[in-house]
Amino acid sequence: MDASAGPARAAQEDGWENGWTRQPDNGAPAMRVRYPRRALPSDAVRPTQAQIDLPRLQHNLRVVQQSVGALPTRFERIERTDGSEKAPQVWGVLKADAYGHGAPAVARTLVRAGIDGLCVALLEEAIELREADIACPILVMGGCYGLRHDGIVELIERKLTPVVFEAGHIELLLAVASRQNKGPIGVHLKVDTGMGRLGASIEDLPETLRALKEASPLIRLEGLMTHLACADGDTLDATEAQLALFGEVERQTLEAGLRPTLRHAANSAALLRLPSSRFDMVRPGIALFGHEPRAGVGPHLLPVMRVRTEVVSLRKLPRGQRIGYGHTWEAPRDSVVATVPIGYADGLSRALSNRGAALIRGKRAPVAGTVSMDLTVLDVTDIAGAEMGDEVVFLGAQEGPLGRDEITATEIAEQTGTIPWEVLTNISRRVPRFYSQA
Ligand SMILES: *Cc1c(COP(=O)(O)O)cnc(C)c1O
Repeated sequence: MDASAGPARAAQEDGWENGWTRQPDNGAPAMRVRYPRRALPSDAVRPTQAQIDLPRLQHNLRVVQQSVGALPTRFERIERTDGSEKAPQVWGVLKADAYGHGAPAVARTLVRAGIDGLCVALLEEAIELREADIACPILVMGGCYGLRHDGIVELIERKLTPVVFEAGHIELLLAVASRQNKGPIGVHLKVDTGMGRLGASIEDLPETLRALKEASPLIRLEGLMTHLACADGDTLDATEAQLALFGEVERQTLEAGLRPTLRHAANSAALLRLPSSRFDMVRPGIALFGHEPRAGVGPHLLPVMRVRTEVVSLRKLPRGQRIGYGHTWEAPRDSVVATVPIGYADGLSRALSNRGAALIRGKRAPVAGTVSMDLTVLDVTDIAGAEMGDEVVFLGAQEGPLGRDEITATEIAEQTGTIPWEVLTNISRRVPRFYSQA
């Protein structure tokens, strides 16, 4: 019996498209790392869609490039007025399926628009991009390369750049690189300057630098990075303190005889608010998708995702009639309600029950009752002319006979006690993404 049949079937049943193969060097079964499949436009039967506006994505990249003084292509950079230093590179952060927008299409658009590189959290996210023929530098930030060697093998074969922060990472890379006669392998070292999550601590830094030095030239330190905890906060004091510590980290790195050419720290909030955080490279995520990381920061950004569906059922209710799970909504008057095929399994938070709204005919209609797994009901009593098949927008703008309005991720986040990042990444993979081309 084929020893790989069991796990392969289990993997498929998990909804993961894993192909089990054998390692070329020793024939042992190895899992090829894959990303879960999402619904495709061709799978769409119900009218619920996430519409992704790729020209807006390009616009947001230009907003970021302009705010850091970089031109749209990596070949032409404007010199800074304060010296001969180059403007920072822009590397887009496409973790979590490009914040729910679909990483391959987002990556293709950004690469064509002249982005310098991409960052992801997971190895499997990076592999998905390589499988989609994305050839630019990709930084794998999460630090998980698997317990066995096959993750590292994939990393090296696919020319991905790992983030390292402990001696174990460096040993593993060195072992695989020397066994496979590969190298040099570029890495970025992450240092914890105050987030307290990932990264070498200041105490462990000398040891990590020593390991990197010993691993050269097979392992080459190309980048030095940290992550800022409070760049979107009310004050930038904590951020300034992190940057000061990062300066000390750089000093020790140079002293150890290592010369990383890409120093980076800034997420969207930092790169837009704090020029001193930009160094050689910036890592925008949320700004590329058109959302301000903080009110008033990045006012020219345009939201890229719109979530829409259509009315599939309409009914008249007499005053006093109750509807939905738990009967939490009671018609306050003779009412008309519309049912739409979108629910919490699509990423519409259940916290919007009796609270949120959607746009129909260009006007807001409140959610009536509880959001259920697949369906939501709207009170359309005040929407003149509402009918079957009308478009319903839960995220984004709509124009119709009754006006024009917009529901932003920030508004939904405020209603549901979260942040725009989570609103976007919650849009689940059963909602097909439809792209409008640049
Ligand atoms: C997610 C992430 C970013 C991007 O953050 P935004 O606030 O979305 O711009 C940058 N760096 C790291 C390490 C991240 O994890």
